[in-house]
Amino acid sequence: MTNQPLGGNEMPRFAGPNTFMRLPTADSAAGLDAAFVGVPMDIGASWRSGTRFGPKAIRAESAMLRPYNMATGAAPFDSLNCADIGDVAINTFDLKDSVVRIANAYEAILSHDTVPMTMGGDHTLTLPILRAIARKHGAVGLVHVDAHADVNMQMFGEAIAHGTPFRRAYEEGLIDPARVWQVGLRGTGYTAEDFDEARGWGFQVVPAEEIWHKSLTPLAVLIRQAVGAGPVYVSFDIDSLDPAFAPGTGTPEIAGLTTMQAVELIRGLAGLEIVGCDLVEVSPPYDPSGNTALVAANLLYEMLCILPGVARR
Ligand code: MN
Ligand code: MN
Repeated sequence: MTNQPLGGNEMPRFAGPNTFMRLPTADSAAGLDAAFVGVPMDIGASWRSGTRFGPKAIRAESAMLRPYNMATGAAPFDSLNCADIGDVAINTFDLKDSVVRIANAYEAILSHDTVPMTMGGDHTLTLPILRAIARKHGAVGLVHVDAHADVNMQMFGEAIAHGTPFRRAYEEGLIDPARVWQVGLRGTGYTAEDFDEARGWGFQVVPAEEIWHKSLTPLAVLIRQAVGAGPVYVSFDIDSLDPAFAPGTGTPEIAGLTTMQAVELIRGLAGLEIVGCDLVEVSPPYDPSGNTALVAANLLYEMLCILPGVARR
């Protein structure tokens, strides 16, 4: 019998444990197919802070999620054993130490046969996760949904920050550039060529303007075919969505994805060999409605629904 989320007929949804979907907690990833993890960090952010409160808010909004995906038939808790293993104890006074702590925590998680499902936290956290992922799986494919490329050489002289993780991941050989897709990029750049350098490395870059007004189901098919077999990591920055849908984020950019496009894209990735997912950059203080965290909780659930081995009904 797999762990089940606590149902609304057992405990009112506004009560009970503040875990993802009110799943049971676990001390480690032992015996888990998927583990929900919080990385409550915002010291890598360059503009607004507040993502340290992201995991707590995502967990709170996830309390309304029910187990079955009515649109896709996915029944993740019928086949996967899931739990919330709590937060990584980052050092909020030291970003570099925090990166080491995150990598160590994910190495421990990945010593089990578990897919980590991360709630952020600013996007810096994806670098140490990819370090741990690559140690286990080798260079992985990557689907990166974001308003920003996050491939800066440095930020204020620092190599590690929320705008640099994918350059570092490329330099360190953590990702296979021929199997990397970046979707939703837009806004203003430091230089006119900001999105082009990574294309030279082999990344596929899909700017937001190319997918305005379109269903993302065909794009997902294209990505699935191009990424093909082999391990893939999915990194979803909530600022890929338009600020109308997700205002509670650190570096908002206008004219982004709709919530429907985000759902189409994630659902369309079913079939990939996904070895980890994150949902980052939720900054609750900038959205008193809670909607950003609600969208984030739902998107993380949609990612759970496309993991390998999920039952369908
Ligand atoms: Mn980002
Ligand atoms: Mn971003």
